[in-house]
Amino acid sequence: MVEIDCERALCQIDGVGYPMVGLGTYRLKGKVCAKAILQAAKCGYRMIDTATYYENFDGIAAALKSLDRHSFYITSKVWHDMAAPKNVRKDFEATLKKMRIDYLDAYLVHWPNSAIPIDLTLEAMEELRHAKKLRHIGLSNVTVNHMKKALKVGVPITWVQVEMHPFFYDKELVDFCKKHSIVVQAWRPLNLGKHHEDALLQKLGKKHGKTAAQVALRWIAQNGCLPLPGSKSEKHMKENIDIADFSLSKEEMTKLNKRAAAGTRVRMNSSHGFTDEFDFSYKQCWPTIS
Ligand code: NAD
Repeated sequence: MVEIDCERALCQIDGVGYPMVGLGTYRLKGKVCAKAILQAAKCGYRMIDTATYYENFDGIAAALKSLDRHSFYITSKVWHDMAAPKNVRKDFEATLKKMRIDYLDAYLVHWPNSAIPIDLTLEAMEELRHAKKLRHIGLSNVTVNHMKKALKVGVPITWVQVEMHPFFYDKELVDFCKKHSIVVQAWRPLNLGKHHEDALLQKLGKKHGKTAAQVALRWIAQNGCLPLPGSKSEKHMKENIDIADFSLSKEEMTKLNKRAAAGTRVRMNSSHGFTDEFDFSYKQCWPTIS
């Protein structure tokens, strides 16, 4: 069970407290990744996000050698072409082996795969959870249509990880997840650092004595979601986790919400090896549940 304290930017997962801001590790590999995780641990980060796609399990394993693995909440994701049950099991075992850990905190489906029924994928994950190798199950890059179908399976879904930043958010999905006690983790929360060029975030930062990045992350936290910025710089890591000592007003939140809700999301294309599936209707988003 995950409880969120927006005000103090903290969350409790099964009774253990973590800062709401996690560390994203996309594009961090090998020694760079290991160094970033050790640095993040010093700065107080306790949630780490990775994926098979990021090819950095060795770096995470190297960092964990000198850390207490149990004090970290580690999330990984299975790539969409490995969503069939036997592949889920294979990817999961390889994930544990490469990270040299014996359980994963959260395991997510990285992107929906319209060719594989979601009940099969979720049931394979549920077996891993029952075997105590996995604590929580999640989905990534989904819409409300995907979620409605996934919830019908009856496997508990704890996390949804989706794109969310002050230039885009899927309000319908965030509201849906809140209603179903599913926690939303915001990927690309700084829109790859583009927040720097934004006059509104700059202005709000100046007013609150904070940076534009901190305003972006605080906006996510006050929406009850968990920001997941990526960084390898100590300065940025310290800045990104330091968002508990100010609050955006109702009017400021409304302004940012309105703008983000009107924004557009990142689209996948054939250069990523597939086309994303955001446009699928409820009927089409996954094959009929058996
Ligand atoms: P991001 O918005 O976190 O931007 C990262 C960039 O911002 C980096 O270049 C970093 O140097 C810079 N940055 C970090 N802190 C800053 C600061 N305070 N001021 C100025 N610049 C700063 O984008 P991202 O890294 O793509 O996403 C974050 C994480 O989300 C990833 O590392 C990954 O773990 C996750 N993610 C998940 C998915 C998914 O499909 N589930 C997709 C993309 C990313």
